[in-house]
Amino acid sequence: MQKKHIVAIGAHPGDMEISCGALLAAHRAKGNKVTIVHLTNSPKFSSRFANRLYFQQLKTEAEDAASTINAHVISYIIEREDYRFNRENIEFVLKLLNELQPTCVITHWKKSLEPDHTLAHRMVKEALSEFNSDKRIDEEKCKIFFTEHYEDRIDFEPLIYVDVSEYINMWFKMISCFHDFHESSRNKYIRPVDYYQALAKIRGRESHFSYACVFNSTHNKLQSKDIMP
Ligand SMILES: [Zn+2]
Repeated sequence: MQKKHIVAIGAHPGDMEISCGALLAAHRAKGNKVTIVHLTNSPKFSSRFANRLYFQQLKTEAEDAASTINAHVISYIIEREDYRFNRENIEFVLKLLNELQPTCVITHWKKSLEPDHTLAHRMVKEALSEFNSDKRIDEEKCKIFFTEHYEDRIDFEPLIYVDVSEYINMWFKMISCFHDFHESSRNKYIRPVDYYQALAKIRGRESHFSYACVFNSTHNKLQSKDIMP
């Protein structure tokens, strides 16, 4: 059987790794190909120097994280200053899809507190629709799924539950590479790593698994087997 190629496209380094990294680990464990894409760099710091150092740190962390599951990573295909919804950027994403030839794409949900995520959703959806429209009638279209991210929760409804219990330790190892996920801003909130681990447990409880990842999709007929490894 032909192996799948899962391409997870986030706005920033860490977005896909923390939200659906367990599913990506499951796919790698089953021998499928996984590519993680970060469309641009984080808007976190404003000074140019701090930015450069921080971006380099994130890039290194993302490479280390991807290497824990033997996935491929592509960072910063769109410059921070040029990151907007326009034809040129849709072309960038389309070119990438043509190079990678994914069988399944995962990206952000359409509504987010983080404008970069909403832009990523729009660009990926548009580019994927063009990618699919170029396929021959007998070729299978690439499916798109939207992952659960704490900044993208506006109207997000979990439609598809995937059992990731077996791969949870691979995922823990993967996200341990990101320094920021282990920090609590102003010691006030729970750390991202704790939030996502608890969320995976909650989603597991809802679906009678130990741990689960959930997704939304524009295709009503899709089921968990469509995104399962
Ligand atoms: Zn982000």
